[in-house]
Amino acid sequence: MTRQVQALVVGGGISGLVCAYALQKAGVEVLLIEASPRPGGVINSIRRNGYLLELGPQSFSGTAQLRSLCAELGIADQLLEAPPRAPRYVLVDGKLQAVPLSPPAFFTSSLIGPTKWALVRDIFGKSVPPEGDESVAAFIRRKFSKQLLDRLVGPFVSGVYAGDPEKLSLRSAFPMLYEAEKACGSIVRGMFRVAKNKQVPRERPTLNTFREGNETLVRALASKLSSTILTQTRVANLDQQKDGAFLVSLEGGSNDSVSTAFVILATPTNVTGDLLSQLDSRFDSLFAPIEYAAVRLACAFSARCGIRRSFQAVRRKVTLSSRPSLAGLRIPLQQS
Ligand SMILES: Cc1cc2nc3c(=O)[nH]c(=O)nc-3n(C[C@H](O)[C@H](O)[C@H](O)COP(=O)(O)OP(=O)(O)OC[C@H]3O[C@@H](n4cnc5c(N)ncnc54)[C@H](O)[C@@H]3O)c2cc1C
Repeated sequence: MTRQVQALVVGGGISGLVCAYALQKAGVEVLLIEASPRPGGVINSIRRNGYLLELGPQSFSGTAQLRSLCAELGIADQLLEAPPRAPRYVLVDGKLQAVPLSPPAFFTSSLIGPTKWALVRDIFGKSVPPEGDESVAAFIRRKFSKQLLDRLVGPFVSGVYAGDPEKLSLRSAFPMLYEAEKACGSIVRGMFRVAKNKQVPRERPTLNTFREGNETLVRALASKLSSTILTQTRVANLDQQKDGAFLVSLEGGSNDSVSTAFVILATPTNVTGDLLSQLDSRFDSLFAPIEYAAVRLACAFSARCGIRRSFQAVRRKVTLSSRPSLAGLRIPLQQS
């Protein structure tokens, strides 16, 4: 049987869910196809022995758009905000060192070392970014120091992007830094100029999570979309017909096909590449080189007083079994 819909969203992770919800709200007749038994993709919150474990994302930026989506979905009261001054630590030579979170702490931190003078040079000097794309690591070494890269930027980048700073593009990962140097010849002066020229008042950046786990957002979106989500169903083929409409073949839960004017792919890049190259083989060379970083997740359960012991235990376990060893550590605390 061929089903007709106005738009088809492929992939029921957070991207596909939000997209389908926005289309439905705009009055578009939409169908969402998800290969696995549950929507949410990599967002997966589970409870074990009284602890809440996030097997995917732990926290996210609390943007105005996200807060208004939560209010619309009736889950705004479930949002938790991390204290902005909560300490963060980097493991250096087997010891935890506090990350400097204010300008005075930055200038006195032993993590920074000779970078202080590089910062003074940046404020009073002038530099020009190279013509081609530059990696985050090359940028930090050129402008600041290898120590800043090894002790602060490297751990931060691997924690946020699970990526290698030697491979990450500065222009893609931190476009503001590139623009600041290009416009003013100095990162510090450039950042001040950007902040001053901002038309709208700057929103205080927040780090959020949900009281009952990040799957709260997935469940709320899925409940609004219930009859339009088909789980355990995989999109296997994409074909475009003479009239421009797409004929999409499904496998798994439903072996129907779908005819639609619009297809939105919210799938991992390898799947997106495979599906698009069925329409035009040139897509294959565009998507195939995109790498995903492999991530291993270690969670240690701990009562509040046992954090240090849990940290040591997990570190020993992870460093023995893998290299590079430990990008970050999550210790869920038992709720009282
Ligand atoms: C361990 C981990 C920790 C993270 N931590 C953070 C964090 O702290 N903060 C943050 O902001 N981000 C974090 N991220 C990144 C963030 O979670 C992801 O960028 C985001 O959830 C990706 O959502 P998505 O919908 O684009 O993709 P996915 O979640 O990958 O969803 C894609 C969906 O497509 C489906 N699919 C695949 N093929 C087909 C097919 N042929 N037909 C139908 N469906 C198909 C899959 O089953 C999947 O459900 C983390 C990611 C991971 C893995």
